[in-house]
Amino acid sequence: MHDVAVVGAGPSGLLAAAEATRHDFDVVVFEEHGKVGVPDHCAGLLSVSGLDSLGLQPPNSVVQNAIVGAKIYSPSGHSLLIEREKREALVVNRSLFDQWLADRAEKKGVQIKTDAHVNKIVTDGQKYTLTLKSVGESIQSRFVCLAEGSRCQISQQLGFPSVPKSSKYPAYQFEIEGADIDPRHVEMFYGRKISTGFFAWVIPFGEGKARVGLASRDESKRRLKSSMKNHPVISERVEGAKIRRGLGGIVLVGKPIERTSIGNAVVTGDAAGHVKATTGGGVILGGVAARIAGQVIRKRLLKDEFEQGLDEYSAQWRAKLEREFRAMFIAQKFLTSLSDKGLDSLIHDVSEYRLLEVVEKSGDMDKQKRVLLELAKNPMAYIAGLKAIRYLSPLI
Ligand SMILES: Cc1cc2nc3c(=O)[nH]c(=O)nc-3n(C[C@H](O)[C@H](O)[C@H](O)COP(=O)(O)OP(=O)(O)OC[C@H]3O[C@@H](n4cnc5c(N)ncnc54)[C@H](O)[C@@H]3O)c2cc1C
Repeated sequence: MHDVAVVGAGPSGLLAAAEATRHDFDVVVFEEHGKVGVPDHCAGLLSVSGLDSLGLQPPNSVVQNAIVGAKIYSPSGHSLLIEREKREALVVNRSLFDQWLADRAEKKGVQIKTDAHVNKIVTDGQKYTLTLKSVGESIQSRFVCLAEGSRCQISQQLGFPSVPKSSKYPAYQFEIEGADIDPRHVEMFYGRKISTGFFAWVIPFGEGKARVGLASRDESKRRLKSSMKNHPVISERVEGAKIRRGLGGIVLVGKPIERTSIGNAVVTGDAAGHVKATTGGGVILGGVAARIAGQVIRKRLLKDEFEQGLDEYSAQWRAKLEREFRAMFIAQKFLTSLSDKGLDSLIHDVSEYRLLEVVEKSGDMDKQKRVLLELAKNPMAYIAGLKAIRYLSPLI
């Protein structure tokens, strides 16, 4: 009988496990792949403030680049530069980042089992029985933390809701080398011809190296290839560069699921929809919620409390993050409801009406509620918003 079984060795599972453990606890993480972090499916852009809030300082071997700002392109090519003096974000090698989190968890006493696909979970109300596909073996645990990513297959077996299909957008990304790219800025490209419901990105991760990606409601790979060929700025960025590899994945653009704790089981990370709807980034806020999950489980184990359940986890992450997730969800809905003319108008007016100063002053890559509230107080933001709303998309 284990004390805690975690399904999935992504950042959420590893952070929850590291938080739950103590030298005399038996905490085990099951990962279906042969190696933690492989294959990766991420651009690796993580805010410095978010990493600090998780108490994480990734070593130089994991960090590939430091970013000071973002350039946002409207459909007609108008651009906005949001920049701060300090390092705003790091670009990490996600495989190495996850492996570093795994080493960190193992040093705290967590066991990590790779090649261990959990394909079934049941409970008798006292304990959980997990069946591992590879060995056909079953294990038992008092507490479980489901951090299996956006697939949500195991969590559904315990009665948790799945992240809805409509919130899952296919994403594709190429890593290129030999590109003529400003290493200090990430670039984001909006427009319905590029992507429906999301955007394309260029994230530099070293001298001449960048991750060029795109998520969309449909056809992300085809759209990305087409943008790399035809978009005036993206095609310029990739000109003469060599494609080193391509990778696909799912980004989430919805809200957290309604229920994240049942009995002594919790769901966290992408599996719980703990993702910024505006960018699909889930490592930081998913990590914040995952740490809460680990802390609440640890508290129960320390006090031998097996009857109380883990609703405290749901209450705590909701108190800390729910309004953030909601604000980003509304912002994402607003942006995607605009036609290209509406987006052009909005991006143009943000610089015209000096709203960029508000964004630069109050903006935070992870906690976007504050900047949205500041903008909501600004009359010029209303004018910009109302002007943009004239161009609601006929497709919504
Ligand atoms: C193209 C792309 C770019 C992205 N870029 C960024 C970015 O720049 N910044 C950012 O913050 N986020 C980014 N994201 C999102 C980010 O990757 C996720 O939010 C993050 O990985 C979620 O972490 P997680 O631990 O919840 O899930 P995951 O990282 O998906 O980890 C889940 C793990 O569980 C394992 N697993 C699943 N089912 C089972 C099972 N039944 N048994 C055993 N193991 C199982 C999987 O193999 C996996 O290792 C990006 C996503 C994509 C697709």
